[in-house]
Amino acid sequence: MNFVSTRNQETVVSLREALEAGLAPDGGLYVPKEYPFFSPADFDHCHTHAEVANLLLRPFFAGDEDLAPKLAAICENTFNFPIPLVPVAARPNDYLLELFHGPTSAFKDVGARFLAGCMEAIAESEFFHLKRTVIVATSGDTGGAVAAAFYNRRAIDVVILYPEGRISSRQEKQLCAWAGNVRAFAVKGSFDDCQRMVKEALLDVKVENRIWLSANSINLGRILPQMVYYAHASLTLWRRKQGSEKAKELPGFIIPSGNLGNSLACIWAKKLGLPIGPIHLAFNSNRGVVDFLDNGTLPAHPTVPTLANAMDVSKPSNLERMQHLFPLHSELQNQISASTINDDEIRAEIQTSEKEWGEALCPHSAVATVARKKLSRAEAFKAKEWVMVATAHPAKFEAIVEPLVGHVIQVPELLRQILLRPSSRRIIEADYAALKSVL
Ligand SMILES: *Cc1c(COP(=O)(O)O)cnc(C)c1O
Repeated sequence: MNFVSTRNQETVVSLREALEAGLAPDGGLYVPKEYPFFSPADFDHCHTHAEVANLLLRPFFAGDEDLAPKLAAICENTFNFPIPLVPVAARPNDYLLELFHGPTSAFKDVGARFLAGCMEAIAESEFFHLKRTVIVATSGDTGGAVAAAFYNRRAIDVVILYPEGRISSRQEKQLCAWAGNVRAFAVKGSFDDCQRMVKEALLDVKVENRIWLSANSINLGRILPQMVYYAHASLTLWRRKQGSEKAKELPGFIIPSGNLGNSLACIWAKKLGLPIGPIHLAFNSNRGVVDFLDNGTLPAHPTVPTLANAMDVSKPSNLERMQHLFPLHSELQNQISASTINDDEIRAEIQTSEKEWGEALCPHSAVATVARKKLSRAEAFKAKEWVMVATAHPAKFEAIVEPLVGHVIQVPELLRQILLRPSSRRIIEADYAALKSVL
């Protein structure tokens, strides 16, 4: 399949080009040129996430000689941890979709592992092995997922930049616990400084004769596999209802959102024909998209820090992809709704979460469960069943969650293994020359 820029239908690229480029040359984002269409019954023989992935993503890989034959293996390798749809005991028609059982305990493992698999396949297909370096600026979860996903992959190095002293100690550990092909640098500056340094590296194509790649959340290779868990969850609920009078009722999804990559994947899955009902985006106090949906302009508020820090975004990149899919504002308003949840509400929710949801919630997942309770009557009525997306494990945010629930949160085994690894950190000045000298 080919992909086009959101800003120009004439800019047509292959999957491979879209994966390697990140941004289109005109500054737009790559989107599928056309959307395949499935009916739920097409997936009758697909039960695992890897099986659903292999069928759902096949049209996007069609025509790419190097990547298409490896799709099945990439899917197997990406979806090798559970993604359970857990019924909520006290609320018979509510579910939590737990996306946090991967190596770094956040949903970003899915996109990072898939992208790593694709990039390894691309590198292996070349006669001359060009050295590739993935460079990523991180304010928390992305860097850890990318590091874990690319660690020990052949022919690809990883450079991670993060703002010194501005991420949690567990997050830092996840960045610095690697050796070999993964290097992390603490930058004496802000996240914005890190991002600027990444942009300079991506433009400075001649450094070390390498190909520089970006693994940030606008990369198509991260969005495509995220459709899979929405497809799988919606098919699970759909199958249960076949043959009953409820067969036509479609579940709603509530997604904690920041840069809109995860929610875009849900919208695309629905567009591909999966049995998905209303889609609700839950934001923290960075409420730009809520206002945008109301009146069509994105307010120029600065980003405010919140407890759900992975969602502290004021200008979400993927909004451009949503607008491309639904060019009429009224159409977008019909497709999604949104709400904003403040830190006090998040705190209160975490405090009561174990009693209500059977487990402690991370601050991001709590945004979704509060949003569920606050859905307007009209909104709540649009679906009989609601799936709330849980994006990270509470143990990743223990400094926030433990004081609120009053006990220690047990660390998942995969995360524990990372935290036990020896770690080392290097500090560099916040300018590109400093980065270049250590590469
Ligand atoms: C990145 C992240 C989000 C926000 O996802 P987007 O795709 O940027 O909207 C939500 N929760 C957690 C835990 C995250 O790491």
